[in-house]
Amino acid sequence: MIVCKFGGTSVASAEQIKKVFNIVKSNPERKVVAVSAPGKRSSEDIKVTDLLIDLAETALIGGDVESKINAVVNRYEDITSGLGLDQTMSEIIAADLRERVAGDKSNKDLFIDNLKASGEDNNAKLIAAYFNVAGVPARYVSPKEGLLVNDLPERTYALPEAYEKLSVLKDTEEVVIFPGFFGYTKDGILRTFDRGGSDITGSILASAVSADLYENFTDVDCVFSANPKVINNPAEIKEITYREMRELSYAGFAVFHDEALMPVYRQGIPVNIKNTNNPSAPGTRIVPTRTEQGRSVTGISADSGFSILYVSKYLMNREVGFGRKLLQIIEEENISYEHTPSGLDDISVIMRSNQLTPEKEERIVRRVKEELHADDAHFRHGFSMIVIVGEGMRNNTGLAARATTAISSTGANIEMINQGSSEVSLVFGVNKQFEDQILKALYSEFFSAVKM
Ligand code: ASP
Repeated sequence: MIVCKFGGTSVASAEQIKKVFNIVKSNPERKVVAVSAPGKRSSEDIKVTDLLIDLAETALIGGDVESKINAVVNRYEDITSGLGLDQTMSEIIAADLRERVAGDKSNKDLFIDNLKASGEDNNAKLIAAYFNVAGVPARYVSPKEGLLVNDLPERTYALPEAYEKLSVLKDTEEVVIFPGFFGYTKDGILRTFDRGGSDITGSILASAVSADLYENFTDVDCVFSANPKVINNPAEIKEITYREMRELSYAGFAVFHDEALMPVYRQGIPVNIKNTNNPSAPGTRIVPTRTEQGRSVTGISADSGFSILYVSKYLMNREVGFGRKLLQIIEEENISYEHTPSGLDDISVIMRSNQLTPEKEERIVRRVKEELHADDAHFRHGFSMIVIVGEGMRNNTGLAARATTAISSTGANIEMINQGSSEVSLVFGVNKQFEDQILKALYSEFFSAVKM
């Protein structure tokens, strides 16, 4: 059995939904289909999810919601009429939206979640109706039928019971059309995943039915070895391991939500990233292990928006518990960190800057100095992390030397180097202004035709 997920651009219009239909119809193994809300039809277009967030925020401040409801309904009306479905479908959608807008506003986040989720929910109903009219028996299945998620306030994830409950879908006769992006708590409260979370739904479904393959349909032919916005015509990745994909989850690799790897990873289900607009292209396969080694480096990614907390204390290496106490302070500020490179007397904690506020920074620095008696503690901002990833790196000497030489050719100073313990990644912290230059230098070092 194959579980497919179709992203926003794949279900943005009647024309796109017809492609989805043909793809599903062409292989009877494609039995479970997760769908996004209608996405952008062109670069200037607005995703239905964004229209819905705007509508929810307007409703929360008591603003005029009429035109915003209409903007959403119009998107669906375009689709239903393009698919030749009768008007009832868009009437149902309009009524559903109005009901959600009039819903309980006591918890703002849940109110927004409820409206946001209608994007996928209504699209799934509509697509199921179209499949039936067009001759493929299909049925809409609500996440209420098993996609159980945790309670507030933690970010949303599927509960272990969800997999058991959803496993019944493997016996389905009809094609199941399942809305992506959300689930329900045990008390029946709707909660959405992070943005792009329909990938997560597809992965949960694939794991629940023990699929042979999880196909993730999007609007590009494959995952590239570097961000195509920076590197002209980067090499295509045909096969990549879960671990490599995970390490590359910084910018330029946003094709697949990083949280979506976990459910399929646990069961070793391969993922195939494919293009709805070019379904015969083989796409990129994400697999547990890779035989073909080819290049030692599989991809290079980069992301900005990092801050570094520098802490130094003479004889830090002899002090039992220093690292734990430092990380405890970070934890108490509800901050997650990415790397903690260290020396004998110093340690840096690298984190996403968007988690910080001037007050938090001030509190952290004060506590580190007072409670840990550090000689110095201060924050620096404006860093990018550049990550070189490849399963083949473990068995190759001299890669770090080549990478640092390439970086130094740009004139950038390397603020931090971290080799992941698994030895499949090498991370460099640099000043953001050098990010693109470094990416280009590294790409030409590791991906030029002659060198491997
Ligand atoms: N529609 C949601 C978003 O735009 C979820 C998804 O498409 O995966 O983030």
